[in-house]
Amino acid sequence: MIKTKAYAAHSSTGALAPFELHRRNPGAEDVQIEILYCGVCHSDLHTARGEWHNTQYPCVPGHEIVGRVVAVGDGVRGFKVGDLAGVGCMIDSCGHCHSCHEGDEQYCENGFTGTYNGPVFGGENTFGGYSRTIVVKESFVLHVRHDEKDLARVAPLLCAGITTYSPLRHWGAGPGRKVGIVGLGGLGHMGVKIAHALGAHVVLFTTSPGKSDDGKQLGAAVVCISTSPEQMAAQANQLDFILNTVAAPHDLDAYLQLLKRDGTMALVGAPAEPHPPSNVFNLIFKRRRIAGSLIGGIKETQEMLDFCADHQILSDVETIPIDYINTAYERMLKSDVKYRFVIDMASL
Ligand code: NAP
Ligand code: ZN
Repeated sequence: MIKTKAYAAHSSTGALAPFELHRRNPGAEDVQIEILYCGVCHSDLHTARGEWHNTQYPCVPGHEIVGRVVAVGDGVRGFKVGDLAGVGCMIDSCGHCHSCHEGDEQYCENGFTGTYNGPVFGGENTFGGYSRTIVVKESFVLHVRHDEKDLARVAPLLCAGITTYSPLRHWGAGPGRKVGIVGLGGLGHMGVKIAHALGAHVVLFTTSPGKSDDGKQLGAAVVCISTSPEQMAAQANQLDFILNTVAAPHDLDAYLQLLKRDGTMALVGAPAEPHPPSNVFNLIFKRRRIAGSLIGGIKETQEMLDFCADHQILSDVETIPIDYINTAYERMLKSDVKYRFVIDMASL
């Protein structure tokens, strides 16, 4: 077994604190990665604080992992020692259900194994990227083609990047399409960048007027302050697709009214409490849809990483030492981060 330092939550109310855990020795199909950077996703906070009522403690969050391969098993063909590699939200799935066969492991009908807090149906807990090393089977490890100097800015692609790329592709964001992105946080800022790179006309909806200039620089053609009834009214019936990343319950009707006939709003934000009920007439009169979307499959995650490398898309990050994590969580709750915290694991 490989001993490694980590940071863990021990209860829903306590602060994260230093912790020690063991990784398995790499088996034939395994890749061992020295973690160099790990992004801080709002899901880490929801999970550490038990907001989704499924947390097993101690909990070591972190699923935006990038680092260097330090060991590989005999059967590993795609990675060698020294390669840059990434790990996202999943480290395993059943591999034989319909979804797995279609490359949608995130919808594995037997439940995928999360990088942390993993075994949904029992079994040993899994520990995530707020640690120095991780051992993962090759088929769940991603290739990183970005320049090594940009590695901290690549980490958030492993969750925020794929969680926005997958629905934007699924619902056809591209030239001639008007796409709304709701919330300019970790997911939202990647959504703006990726939708813009795909060629869509991007309208950013934010509650924070101070983020307007950034929104435009990131690729939004229009920034709409969602607390302004006039600005919202100007967007009515305009949008083909809306990607809603907001991490708190809010009025969905305000956004449904902005969709064209047959438009879809996909929810990726996963607040602890339900949204207030929405008015069915906003759906039936224009055949609009509310949908959901969960991260993306491994093949699509690799496609997204390659797309971002080709288009020089990186996350905008604040790099922090691990002992800043509890402060970072408090700032994230106030939407006070531009636009993703990333932990420099050398600080652990
Ligand atoms: P984040 O960085 O905290 O960003 C969330 C943004 O939502 C904030 O920056 C803010 O943007 C907006 N917001 C927050 N509270 C709001 C409120 N009360 N009303 C309106 N807007 C509000 O979080 P994140 O890491 O991007 O994650 C967002 C959500 O997605 C979380 O719930 C997370 O668990 C979930 N998630 C889902 C998936 C998936 O696969 N579906 C994957 C990863 C994360 P403005 O300041 O611009 O208004
Ligand atoms: Zn995440």
